[in-house]
Amino acid sequence: MAAEAHSTATLRLTVGDLRIVHPITVPSGRVPATDVVPALQGLVNAVVDAAEASLLKSGGAISCRKGCGACCRQLVPVSRTEGERLLALVRTLPGEQRERLRQRFATAEAAIDAAGLADRAGRHDRELSLAYFALRLPCPFLEDESCSIHPDRPLVCREYLVTSPAELCAGPVQEGVTPVAVPKVSMAARGLQGDDDWFPLALLMKWAKTRPKSDRRRTGPEWVQRFLGAFKGA
Ligand code: SF4
Repeated sequence: MAAEAHSTATLRLTVGDLRIVHPITVPSGRVPATDVVPALQGLVNAVVDAAEASLLKSGGAISCRKGCGACCRQLVPVSRTEGERLLALVRTLPGEQRERLRQRFATAEAAIDAAGLADRAGRHDRELSLAYFALRLPCPFLEDESCSIHPDRPLVCREYLVTSPAELCAGPVQEGVTPVAVPKVSMAARGLQGDDDWFPLALLMKWAKTRPKSDRRRTGPEWVQRFLGAFKGA
């Protein structure tokens, strides 16, 4: 079978004070949006690297450390395209790990339902985030305070870094937490398939039961154009 053809381009972006030059490679043919997620992860990584380099240049330092999962108790907003990609990833995991995840997702779903946070209608994002964080609900993908899907973690997880002492991140209202000014490129993924929506990562399995389904395909470069268009328009 012939190898799938790919297209490569060098993206040159100005994001705030950051200048990003990043080669991006995507399938040339018509594919589902999920197939360009690895390229979007690479782009977000490049933006985060540039923000980190800028911080270091100005004398700052990131305090996040492996094994500190405080931020993995926050509400993690995930786009439909990333949700579909994560569901596909979960299907490839060994049965034992899938079962552990199934149980953790069920626990999280019950806690979110009991707190009345499953329905976002009429709630301000900040109010919802604080109420969610107050549940102290670990992300189902968190194992031993580390991300068990680190290479595949959502875009928004990549963008969250802090310079303040790690213990502040566990505080009830996260007072004194100083996030690094990373441009939120991840937001552009929300409208990639046209529905402009998100759901909390901890409700991935619940979302899977009612998620919108379509077999919309575009070429890889077209998906990236849509993503960049949404980002510039944000
Ligand atoms: S996906 Fe990984 S990094 Fe993101 S909240 Fe969950 S455990 Fe943390």
